[in-house]
Amino acid sequence: MTKTEKIINIAAKRGFFFPSGEIYNPIAGFWTYGHLGTLMKHNWEDLWRTYFLGLDTNYYEIEDVNIMNKKVFESSGHLENFKDPLVECKKCHNRCRADQLIEDEVDISTDGLKEKEMDELIKKHKIKCPNCGASEFGDVKWFNMMFDLKVGATGNDIVYLRPETAQSPFVAFKKEFLALREKIPMGLAVIGKAFRNEISPRQGFFRLREFTQAELQIFFDSDKIDECLEWNKVKNYKLRLYLVNNRKTKVITEIKCDEANKKLKLPKFYVYHLAKIQQFYFEILKIPKDKFRFRELSGEERAFYNKIHFDIELDLETLTGFKEVAGLHFRGDHDLSGHQKGSKEKHEVTIDGKRFIPNVLELSFGVDRNIWALMDLSFKEEKERTLFKFSPVISPIQVAVFPLLRKDKLPEKAKEIFNLLKEEFSTSYDETGSIGKMYRRMEEIGCNAMITVDHQTLKDNTVTLRDRDSMKQIRVKIKDLSSVLKKFFDNEKIEKLGKSVK
Ligand code: ATP
Repeated sequence: MTKTEKIINIAAKRGFFFPSGEIYNPIAGFWTYGHLGTLMKHNWEDLWRTYFLGLDTNYYEIEDVNIMNKKVFESSGHLENFKDPLVECKKCHNRCRADQLIEDEVDISTDGLKEKEMDELIKKHKIKCPNCGASEFGDVKWFNMMFDLKVGATGNDIVYLRPETAQSPFVAFKKEFLALREKIPMGLAVIGKAFRNEISPRQGFFRLREFTQAELQIFFDSDKIDECLEWNKVKNYKLRLYLVNNRKTKVITEIKCDEANKKLKLPKFYVYHLAKIQQFYFEILKIPKDKFRFRELSGEERAFYNKIHFDIELDLETLTGFKEVAGLHFRGDHDLSGHQKGSKEKHEVTIDGKRFIPNVLELSFGVDRNIWALMDLSFKEEKERTLFKFSPVISPIQVAVFPLLRKDKLPEKAKEIFNLLKEEFSTSYDETGSIGKMYRRMEEIGCNAMITVDHQTLKDNTVTLRDRDSMKQIRVKIKDLSSVLKKFFDNEKIEKLGKSVK
């Protein structure tokens, strides 16, 4: 079994996620989050929300509809440009993404290639259909990835499911700018669903047709792009950049923010957000440093409106290398100018006597991809057990409480402790099995701390606390449990927190 299969098996068996509507023939690219997956996703979203909205006093979250007016996407350019290259096998009529087909066979990036160039590459390398093995394809054509719907009884009005959350802050800009007392920078975040009719969503949980994005759109004055109030706090901080110039050597450059600004000519406001994103991955999500990089996109690779674009990539064994989980895009005034033109409503602002259309810096994260990445990076197989070594901030269940036996008033005492802890920690109670089995089950879902109530508990009000990773156990007084758990989750070693027991 591959690592991907093992993770997907546990995910489905234990309630992280599984193909949606599995009792029928599930449609590729649609997944249900089970109870554990939902807890974990909420943890991730809360961390993201607290961290990124905390970067400025003028950053807020809004919530918007998923179905949007056609005009929004005329103005944004999605109707014209939001497309992927599609190719059809002449023999079995299997349709797939031409760029993926090529990249699977040839070690090149297809970003920015024209239809004809892809046709030629498919022929030149005699690429075969992944379904039937034939090597005769029709011409590469473009396929728009938006889902359309009809609204109302006449069915004359076409609307679209939003393909990104970003358009919501753009169309809400005018209202929020006034409501927030006309200040810039202004940040509007959305954590919500996005929908893309992906041609071949074959990377399991990684490429979905309905997925969640967490995006922050920062509206600012582009004349101030090389200014940053917090610069001193990050200028010596080192970024891990995979620059266009390093593609051949595959070297990751470790470079101080100050040098990225001076030598690479990346503006301070942009570099500051690179630093903050990297810190989010290292300090909050605890991603190992060598698994992280920013990938710079060249002029041909990035969308025409993006003036600077780095993707956040994580090195994932299940996906054979670094894969995109997020991006930082300097989009210029493309968005607000587009909506100004389309809506005929002025989107200019006047600040200190200067009139301008705000530019946008976009922080764009795929929540589901980040969840998959955390599962990939945390998955461990040891001699007797399989587990996810989630950090406590992301674990769906942080603490589990068990009675050693289902008698002698141990369950009652264990439930008392469960009730005590559930207010402060994500806690579960279990009494269905031997203690060994209950440990394994909890370890398998990444639970950080396991508490067992035994006969000694009834005598002296102490319990055992077991560390998932080292499997070491200590004896702790019930009244100290909350503070001990907090220290333990704060990375204190279990041995330092109490007397070890076998
Ligand atoms: P890709 O090149 O992998 O198709 P993208 O560059 O089109 O992704 P963006 O439009 O920049 O992606 O979207 C921002 C983020 O949304 C991505 O970094 C990714 O995490 C997430 N995302 C995009 N498409 C999907 C998808 N089909 N399934 C899950 N997440 C996605």
